[in-house]
Amino acid sequence: MKMEIEQLPRAEKSEVLVIGGGLAGMYAAIEAHRAGRSVRILSKGKVGGSGASLVSMSVHRFAPREPGLREEYRRRFLASGEGEQDLRVAEMLVERGADAVEALREFELPLEYRGMDTPSGTYNYLACCKPKRGRLLTGALRNYLLAHTDAVLDEGVMAFDLVKAGGNILGVLAERDGQVIYYPADAVVLAAGGAGNIYRYTSNTTDLTGDGYAMAARAGLRLVGMEFVQFYPYRICTPRRADIFPDIFSHGAVFRNEKGERFMESYPMKELENRDVLARALYRQERVYLDLTACDWAYLERECPNIADMARRFPDQPLEVRPMAHFFMGGIPLEPDCSTEIRGLFACGEVTGGLHGANRLSGSALTETALFGRIAGREAAATGPAPRDREAETAELERLLAAIGGPERVGELPDRQLLRENMWAAASVERDMEGLQRLMAFLEKTEEQLDHAAPRPLRQWLELRNMTAVSKAVTEAAIRRPESLGAHYIRK
Ligand SMILES: Cc1cc2nc3c(=O)[nH]c(=O)nc-3n(C[C@H](O)[C@H](O)[C@H](O)COP(=O)(O)OP(=O)(O)OC[C@H]3O[C@@H](n4cnc5c(N)ncnc54)[C@H](O)[C@@H]3O)c2cc1C
Repeated sequence: MKMEIEQLPRAEKSEVLVIGGGLAGMYAAIEAHRAGRSVRILSKGKVGGSGASLVSMSVHRFAPREPGLREEYRRRFLASGEGEQDLRVAEMLVERGADAVEALREFELPLEYRGMDTPSGTYNYLACCKPKRGRLLTGALRNYLLAHTDAVLDEGVMAFDLVKAGGNILGVLAERDGQVIYYPADAVVLAAGGAGNIYRYTSNTTDLTGDGYAMAARAGLRLVGMEFVQFYPYRICTPRRADIFPDIFSHGAVFRNEKGERFMESYPMKELENRDVLARALYRQERVYLDLTACDWAYLERECPNIADMARRFPDQPLEVRPMAHFFMGGIPLEPDCSTEIRGLFACGEVTGGLHGANRLSGSALTETALFGRIAGREAAATGPAPRDREAETAELERLLAAIGGPERVGELPDRQLLRENMWAAASVERDMEGLQRLMAFLEKTEEQLDHAAPRPLRQWLELRNMTAVSKAVTEAAIRRPESLGAHYIRK
């Protein structure tokens, strides 16, 4: 991008700049504000109205405080990670998850806490909204931010590069309405969520194109566990999109294929098998439907009113289900204090990796945002300004802007949909080495094409650059692991 650095629009410096307006970013912003810092949130979507947090089912699961129940959760949490977790952060989630979710009471979020009765008392193990809609939570946190903090909410802004020099974060380059803006900051919290949109089918909102992973990698940070992508088997795609609360399968609901067969019948846990096992079983059917014929209707009305409503409104249409790219277990290595190898840069939420390992237990991602979002905010607030070397800062800005290219680039943008189709075909629920190698060659060509493409519209070019980089990271990691593990499944 041809632009004199003196002409580059520059925002006022923030003490803490948060990238992402999902739950992790909002918790971080609230904590940084409480520590007395000036806070700005840059968000591609509306703060509290975008990202996976918005469309989540609001379910927070955590290890209960009772020692035996806590041990049982620890065993399940570590088993799901298949030895790929960073035990320092995994133990933190087990030990501190309950406190982190209980501490949300102070925000007066519409969360109901549910307990398990034991001889020694009742112990909470879950918190969710009624109905189970993430938007109830994210809306309440947005209102809290507006009413109780002076954080600046900069919405519709896409951060695209981290600016650093001498190992310190200096700020972020971002795009708004086709214009580039520089946002200097003393500390940055990266909470840009996952990358579901690199796949043809995803449960994610359209803003999630892996920008956080790509920005971190371009800034020289290592990504871990990128081959571990969770494909969600509990999503109705027609006549309307809706998540299925898995508990429904303990109340009479079943999956059937196009021949009417209950194809999960022979599996020990039937429709309640682990998500990866279930996703593969669904993937192998031509079509899959949710059959509610034998479902307890009172239960359905109470726990899943959206599905009950859909079944009532569309009595002649089957509820079709398909596995979808849902959650990235990999990402920027999560540290106990959310720090990264760049001083002043912190990361939390789905953009991080290492907490869940090769697979993720349901309900643990929102607990993760509650615990690590707040830690990231506190730690970012405690970071003082780094010494600024103006020359090095200018040189870095010039280098980053040059990578976008200028009027000399006239080629067409690569086909975004083709990338998503190819990722689905070769790097989704089931993979094989030959397909992954072919995919890699395609991604390398796409990258070359991007280097010659006119960066117009700029947002599309920037997103495609990130989607290609993240697709490559997933594919490379998958090729490096020829054996199946957790959510990474290699067809032999
Ligand atoms: C349908 C669905 C249901 C789910 N249900 C549950 C559940 O019940 N329980 C559970 O534990 N987990 C659930 N999950 C997972 C969980 O919701 C997410 O992992 C979690 O909400 C991630 O929070 P986050 O703040 O890290 O990211 P997100 O909530 O995804 O927020 C990311 C934010 O970053 C912004 N952003 C992205 N790129 C940029 C950029 N370049 N510049 C500026 N801003 C950017 C986005 O606009 C968004 O505001 C569900 C996920 C989905 C998709």
